[in-house]
Amino acid sequence: MTLDATGSHADADEHSNDSPVPIPVTRSSMPDFDAFVEEIRPLWDSRWLTNRGEKVRQLESELNAYLGVSHSALTVNGHMALETLLQAFELKGEVITTPFTFASTTHAIVRSGLTPVFADIKPDDYTIDPASIEALITPQTSAIVPVHIYGTLCDVDAIQDIADRYGLKVIYDAAHAFGVERDGVGAAAFGDASMFSFHATKVFNTIEGGLAVVRDQEMLNRVKHLQNFGITGRDQVGYVGGNAKMNEFSAAMGLCNLRTLKDDIRRRGIVESAYRERLSQVAGLRLLNPVEGVASNHAYLPVTIDSDEFGVTRDGLHDGLAIQGIYTRKYFYPLVTDFDPYREDYDSSGTPNAARLSNEVLTLPMYADLQIADVNRVCDAIIAAGAAV
Ligand SMILES: *Cc1c(COP(=O)(O)O)cnc(C)c1O
Repeated sequence: MTLDATGSHADADEHSNDSPVPIPVTRSSMPDFDAFVEEIRPLWDSRWLTNRGEKVRQLESELNAYLGVSHSALTVNGHMALETLLQAFELKGEVITTPFTFASTTHAIVRSGLTPVFADIKPDDYTIDPASIEALITPQTSAIVPVHIYGTLCDVDAIQDIADRYGLKVIYDAAHAFGVERDGVGAAAFGDASMFSFHATKVFNTIEGGLAVVRDQEMLNRVKHLQNFGITGRDQVGYVGGNAKMNEFSAAMGLCNLRTLKDDIRRRGIVESAYRERLSQVAGLRLLNPVEGVASNHAYLPVTIDSDEFGVTRDGLHDGLAIQGIYTRKYFYPLVTDFDPYREDYDSSGTPNAARLSNEVLTLPMYADLQIADVNRVCDAIIAAGAAV
């Protein structure tokens, strides 16, 4: 699947011959077709299609090994992994989070009956600012839900220090962070729990899917019960749970895609280096600096545009590139607090760094099989757009 900036399909074949082939903002990693068929063949014999069959159990154990954890549950998607985790920890009251994220993070908090409180982000790496978190803690605060974004990690040590001092849970939205490591330790190691997304557009996909990672067997049992209608045993329902189980076909897709994940991340790294080489010296453009000790998964390629210096606004660049068949994404824009369900209760002026970034940021095409010639086409178009003014 390929998605253009609006999330609709951009199909190269539909394009006429005289205009250049479109470059989508993302493109799903797919296994070899025959390998996938081999992987799903046993399902025709067993007819075990969902409810923790062979493929889901095998993928869970391979993901545990990959992430260096021992308690995780595959879920139908990342969003439901986060909702299930919030429910499993039986949180109450206020949850401190970031407005610079996908609507899913905030929705999961609100749909769990909790009140989101928005901290600002750091201007250097765009993750939640620990100082801003601490200033917002009240007796009602029960947890922090930070978001690892773009392929880097939050300031996990400072966040844990605050959580320890105030007795708060830390549940990471690690939707972007599958495959990210800090000093050789995988992203799942931090906080009380993490949610990963395996959506088609993420670095590793199971078509739709997600993973909830927790620290002990008791919490894992609770997550597994909650993701299956709260069923705790034969003729027994112990919780008001929903349905957040992964099916066997998605797990089979994951088993195939996991085999190429390391190579996919390596190829994304080459793409990122090519962008850096071309764009890091362009006046008015800023690339996200790598964080020391963090090995990125190169999930996204965000640039910020200072329109005074660059000569064109972020929106102008986005639209100008789209005319040339180059699809970029205003990600994340608008801020979650500016969406209709939240606008009346929150004011984005309370998080000025996040407000500024959401008006300046653009993510460029990034996927494992993006050709360097296409990276150059994107960079030529960007540089020309700035120079034209
Ligand atoms: C993709 C994403 C989600 C939701 O994950 P799904 O698997 O699509 O449900 C949540 N938070 C962030 C930051 C994401 O990018």
